[in-house]
Amino acid sequence: ELLTFGQMLAAHARLHGGRTGARDLERATTFSQWNGRACRLANALLGLGLAKGDRVAVLAYNRLEWAEIYAATAKAGLVAVPINFRLLGPEVLYIVEDSGASALIVQDEFAGVVEEIHAGLSIRAANLVHFGERPCPAGFRAYEDLLSAASDREPGVPVAATDPWTLMYTSGTTGNPKGAIRNHKGAALLSLVTEIELGIHRRDGALLVMPMCHANSLNFFGAFGYCGGETAIYSRKSFDPEHCVRTLAEGGSTFTSLVPTHYATMLDLPGAVRTRHDLGRVTKLMISSAPARPETKRAVMEMFRSSGLFELYGATELGWATMLHPHEQFTKLGSVGRECVGSAPIKLLDEAGQEVPDGEPGELYASTPYLFDGYWRLPEKTREAFRGEYCSVGDMARRDEDGYIHLVDRKSNMVISGGENVYPSEVETALAAHPAVKEVAVVGLPDPKWGERVHAVVVLRDGAALDEAGLLEWGRDRLAGYKRPRSCSFVRDDEIPRNALGKVLHRALKARLAGAAG
Ligand code: ATP
Repeated sequence: ELLTFGQMLAAHARLHGGRTGARDLERATTFSQWNGRACRLANALLGLGLAKGDRVAVLAYNRLEWAEIYAATAKAGLVAVPINFRLLGPEVLYIVEDSGASALIVQDEFAGVVEEIHAGLSIRAANLVHFGERPCPAGFRAYEDLLSAASDREPGVPVAATDPWTLMYTSGTTGNPKGAIRNHKGAALLSLVTEIELGIHRRDGALLVMPMCHANSLNFFGAFGYCGGETAIYSRKSFDPEHCVRTLAEGGSTFTSLVPTHYATMLDLPGAVRTRHDLGRVTKLMISSAPARPETKRAVMEMFRSSGLFELYGATELGWATMLHPHEQFTKLGSVGRECVGSAPIKLLDEAGQEVPDGEPGELYASTPYLFDGYWRLPEKTREAFRGEYCSVGDMARRDEDGYIHLVDRKSNMVISGGENVYPSEVETALAAHPAVKEVAVVGLPDPKWGERVHAVVVLRDGAALDEAGLLEWGRDRLAGYKRPRSCSFVRDDEIPRNALGKVLHRALKARLAGAAG
């Protein structure tokens, strides 16, 4: 039987308890302290009346407490429900209520959100827990008080590998947030595969920059904690590229995982700032979550003077589905790589469920050893996502003649113009190559003749000039007729709606444009 994260943490505490296990930018804990505090929290939660299988919702920026909460829930057989801190009160309420959480742990900054939704919460008032620098407000229990009153002994709850550990709500770029359940076995296998694919071990350390409420950080947190490496949680409220570069240069991390937008803002730093810092210790870099432009990847490798750039394609439900390794970056720059070890070959299926020939786009079905268990209380959605052992999250992809996967786009972003399928990301790539274009997002707008027409929303580089005719002309030379944009609008950077990871929310953008037109 595979060890759970909680059991593995106890083993690390026993074997090398004096080494740093987890830290944030202000504080550090050894494996032994981390394990002790996780046991205290686990016992405290059980003391509040929670029992195995109960959900514990968490609303916080990146802080060391995340390391304790994830470990504590694993030890007590509880299910962690991380909530995206960008959500508004009613969205938070939806997740807390949908998950049926029995406790809610919040950082001081979010006490106001809880007060706002208080009337709608079903959680017992006694189970609202508060941590942070500010004094604990009335109506909450102080996290530190709970910990100091509880025992630091292992809670002794029999946790099986197939018991659920996390209930993670996908951010909803395709609809209402859905809770995806992953059990301990899935998490452990995902950790082991990450360790094999990246070649990480105890002497490695991760700087986790992405929100800890997101699967990317949670999965790397799992992997580094599982193998006894050091986990550093980047506890800044918002991403500051220069600060992040300095932290990487001066901290002990050998690994970090960022989204293309993070890297792009780092690359925008003045040359002098970039060269001031020696990033040589960071030998493993991950880029993922949104399409990465080849020129961004090239520039990242130059900036870090590192050949250790990995790209991965994954989703909350799938875990990592493919990985492109550093030595493949130059030969397969536009691809997201191949299946990770232990996964069955990916299937690319047409509407009829038949595998498409190489080179043709099909819906990507993955069968990883750590697939999620299903959507929380949504059996119908779960059935729709699975075909036997395979699961799809609605991405379209092509396989090339060497077996490498190239993402095409999300199925839901597809524009149908004159009966032809147009994938915005292909059009975006062609338009982004224009020197005046900084960002571009493509959507389909209603059109009396074509059903939908391709429309481009463009952010220009500072000082650059380009008009609609110029952009359409550029498209004419580079795209087949039905893929060409027929219209465009120019906007500011912050007018393109994005989720917490910088992914363009095409549906929201489309709704906004439709609203503006109507
Ligand atoms: P929802 O599933 O509700 O739309 P989401 O986009 O936030 O929310 P996640 O599980 O966080 O869901 O992200 C998974 C998606 O991110 C994938 O389905 C894919 O579309 C995109 N993605 C992941 N990795 C890459 C990558 N390397 N390149 C391009 N897109 C990627």
